[in-house]
Amino acid sequence: MRALVYLGPRRMELQDVPDPVAGPGEVVIDAVVSAICGSDLHGFREASPRRVPPLVMGHETVGRIGAVGTGVDPERLGQRVVLKPILSCGTCEACRTGDINRCREGRLVGRDLAGGFAERFAVPATAAVPVPSELPDEVAVLTEPLANAEHVTERAVREGDVVFVIGSGPIGALMVRAAFLHRARQVIVTDTNPERLAFALAQGAEGVPGDDALEAVTAATDGWGADVVIDAAGFETTWALGLQGVRPGGHIFEIGLGAPRGTVDFFTVLGKEATITGSYAWSDQDFARSLELLAGGALTPDGWLTRVPL
Ligand SMILES: [Zn+2]
Ligand SMILES: [Zn+2]
Repeated sequence: MRALVYLGPRRMELQDVPDPVAGPGEVVIDAVVSAICGSDLHGFREASPRRVPPLVMGHETVGRIGAVGTGVDPERLGQRVVLKPILSCGTCEACRTGDINRCREGRLVGRDLAGGFAERFAVPATAAVPVPSELPDEVAVLTEPLANAEHVTERAVREGDVVFVIGSGPIGALMVRAAFLHRARQVIVTDTNPERLAFALAQGAEGVPGDDALEAVTAATDGWGADVVIDAAGFETTWALGLQGVRPGGHIFEIGLGAPRGTVDFFTVLGKEATITGSYAWSDQDFARSLELLAGGALTPDGWLTRVPL
């Protein structure tokens, strides 16, 4: 079969590789659509210590079950599934409450084992979640990224909140949708890329270019600041922008992978009594809720994907 193999920073090659085999308790997923995550891009561009070549990336995949290993219901053959890519131990304290993103033995498909940038790949049967029949492939493939947004907004957004989203790439745009699903009153989004900003507008937000963002947040909140800031960019400049834009007592969520370290103005953190919370991936509950939201028509399919054949 063909697979897109990562060979080192900025080197990826379409190669012929052996077909995967479903081991005990596993299934082989025949990939139909795989989306590219920002973390895949990050791994491709820089020498990420967590993505060791040779590696087949990809953890946002919809496909059909093409083979089942021993112990897996053969009735599942042909079933349409979405990949739930965090593989966790299932027994630790974090796993017992569904917080599988915090499992210390957690592995990620497409990082710690071969993933969806291939015609086929093998995973534990529990990582292949059935997709409701009414949900098209190109929407179902957004289950994992929307779960990331659900993980933030479920904790962050309360009814009537003004939310300031920094960065309107796919995750930022999903944050906009998810904030409204959690009954935000107003969402203001900023990005330096006008096309990305336009897409966030289509999700119902108000979009403002980088330089005017703070002014828009101030104007929308009588000078008070946003209740919630979601930083989907993650650079020193956006950390600073978030701190300027958040209201006293407000909440900043960091999800962007822009820069690993830099300067943060902690006098403003103290003075505003701001809370800064990190967010990584999603829990069992977020993933289930994301699939449920999509099945309920939470997103229109247009504009989320650019198609590239393998
Ligand atoms: Zn991802
Ligand atoms: Zn665990």
